[in-house]
Amino acid sequence: MQHSVSPIGYVRSCFKEKFAIPRQPSLAPAARGVLELLPPFDKGDAVAGLEQVSHVWLLFLFHQALESTPRLKVRPPRLGGNRMVGVFATRATHRPNGIGQSVVRLDRVEADRLFISGIDLLDGTPVLDIKPYVPYADALPDARNDMAADAPTLIEVQWTESGLLQAHREALRLGEPLLELIEQCLAQDPRPAYQKPEPERRYGAQFWDVDVRWHYPAPDTIRVLEVIPATPRPT
Ligand code: SAM
Repeated sequence: MQHSVSPIGYVRSCFKEKFAIPRQPSLAPAARGVLELLPPFDKGDAVAGLEQVSHVWLLFLFHQALESTPRLKVRPPRLGGNRMVGVFATRATHRPNGIGQSVVRLDRVEADRLFISGIDLLDGTPVLDIKPYVPYADALPDARNDMAADAPTLIEVQWTESGLLQAHREALRLGEPLLELIEQCLAQDPRPAYQKPEPERRYGAQFWDVDVRWHYPAPDTIRVLEVIPATPRPT
């Protein structure tokens, strides 16, 4: 039996590419976005009452990871990218039906859009449903996951003087907590675990409309080199 689903809205996110997005929500509280609702959900009726809720579950499509042949085993980056486990034991993006779920902070509700933060969602992510977080049912103090017991260990993020100045300037222009966003995301160490970070090697990712470039002066330290307006990329 086949069912078809259609998006109720799309996320406009600070994340314009997959690289450097945190692996789960809440890891970067400064990661903000707007969920723009589509008709007929954009008139206020569908979100009436949501202002009483601090967090929502978003069910969405991993639209940039959809595959026609389902994978049964995956290599989670969390396990260093070299151990295979069953897809249903993980939150991998490549999964049957390509459905993701994230709990995000709900900062403001308007009739046709929700302002959200702590997101781990790519710009343009199609959202299939929104559900209120219910603390008494969703927060389970005795829950365990031995494969992902704790949040990832954070690494140190340093700034060059010019990088810091540029980040302040771009943050003011955007009216967004850009420094916090960069620090929170880079502290998760976005580099693939198998890659040895040579100090000469440059890494980069786009946040909002700025390109951030960094390197690893030491294996457990990131230094932000540049925060500059992004060059337009092919869509
Ligand atoms: N919290 C969700 C879940 O558990 O279903 C997502 C977890 S998944 C491991 C998080 C990663 O998904 C992010 O680091 C990002 O690279 C990727 N991602 C986010 N939005 C995406 C999208 N629309 N399409 C493909 N990949 C996406």
